[in-house]
Amino acid sequence: MKFIDLRSDTVTEQPIFMKEAMFNAEVGDDVYGDDPTVIKLEELASKIVGKESALFVPSGAFGNQLSLFTHCSRGSEVIIADSNHIIAHEVGASSIIAGVQLRAIDSPNGVLKASEIEKRVRFENEDIHFPSTSLICIENAHSSGNVLTIKEMKEIYEVAKKYNLPVHLDGARIFNASTALNIDVKEITKYCDSVMFCLSKGLCAPVGSILAGSKEFINKARKKRKLMGGGLRQAGFLAAAGIVSLEEMTKRLKEDHDNAKLLAEELNKIPEIDVDFNNLKINMVFFKFNDNSIDTKALVNYFLENNIKINDVENGLMRFVTHYWIKDEHIHKVVNTLKEFLSETK
Ligand SMILES: *Cc1c(COP(=O)(O)O)cnc(C)c1O
Repeated sequence: MKFIDLRSDTVTEQPIFMKEAMFNAEVGDDVYGDDPTVIKLEELASKIVGKESALFVPSGAFGNQLSLFTHCSRGSEVIIADSNHIIAHEVGASSIIAGVQLRAIDSPNGVLKASEIEKRVRFENEDIHFPSTSLICIENAHSSGNVLTIKEMKEIYEVAKKYNLPVHLDGARIFNASTALNIDVKEITKYCDSVMFCLSKGLCAPVGSILAGSKEFINKARKKRKLMGGGLRQAGFLAAAGIVSLEEMTKRLKEDHDNAKLLAEELNKIPEIDVDFNNLKINMVFFKFNDNSIDTKALVNYFLENNIKINDVENGLMRFVTHYWIKDEHIHKVVNTLKEFLSETK
């Protein structure tokens, strides 16, 4: 391994047994509906998340935007936390693809209060000025490193059902959430109508995500996926990796979470560092420097010279992400390198 890469779990390359499964995949043309490996992945995925149907999509953002595009009519309104990936990191796509207005609620850790949602629900015939609400979006695990509890999920779902609104779950890291909560993933997905999750992050697939929901919803989404240019041909090579992700990689995520805890504890021993232990639920460690004189750009460069890749601060926070390729010894090297940097630059 040339680099210790803590920028994200999206950087995970494929272990050899995953490459073998890809190499040996039986494929067809999935736009004609006859790629057996894609069909197998979609059936497996729908079973695991407890939904009638599932669809293989090129990326997580694609799956989220396809979901909005399928659930919502143009000009309608989606209630969502303003920190969610759909708002913060998808280039404003929902205004272009689904043509919806996002009604954002301030929530840095992604927890929406049912009462705050209820206040914002608007109806078709209520007032000539109002758009009508078409969807509620939630995110679990949340990008802040937080995991929504089952109680929080359930309260949101209940208010949605009271007004007959669908709930879409951005579950890019849903298996990290279920690992953190120590429950079956179906216990989470029963509080949503559609769910997107990534095969490509901590689950080590090279490419791909899943959108799951009712049969009717997925049939509609399949056609809209084609419209968005997401009809893939011999996608079985990618689906084969996704099957390994679901069968094998979902079971080992606790290791990444334990490594994140170890990393957090070691980092927090450094006097200049404050770790955010409240949002230490999955494979991400967030921390800040309590000393303003630290040049984080110089830190990024210093790490790179030592074959460690990290991102610079975002919104005042550093984020280190653990994954399949990060082991004990790497964590110690990272912490020691950080200590060296601090002592050299003081
Ligand atoms: C990564 C991520 C996505 C998008 O996935 P891509 O495959 O990078 O498009 C969506 N939501 C959340 C919460 C994510 O972390």
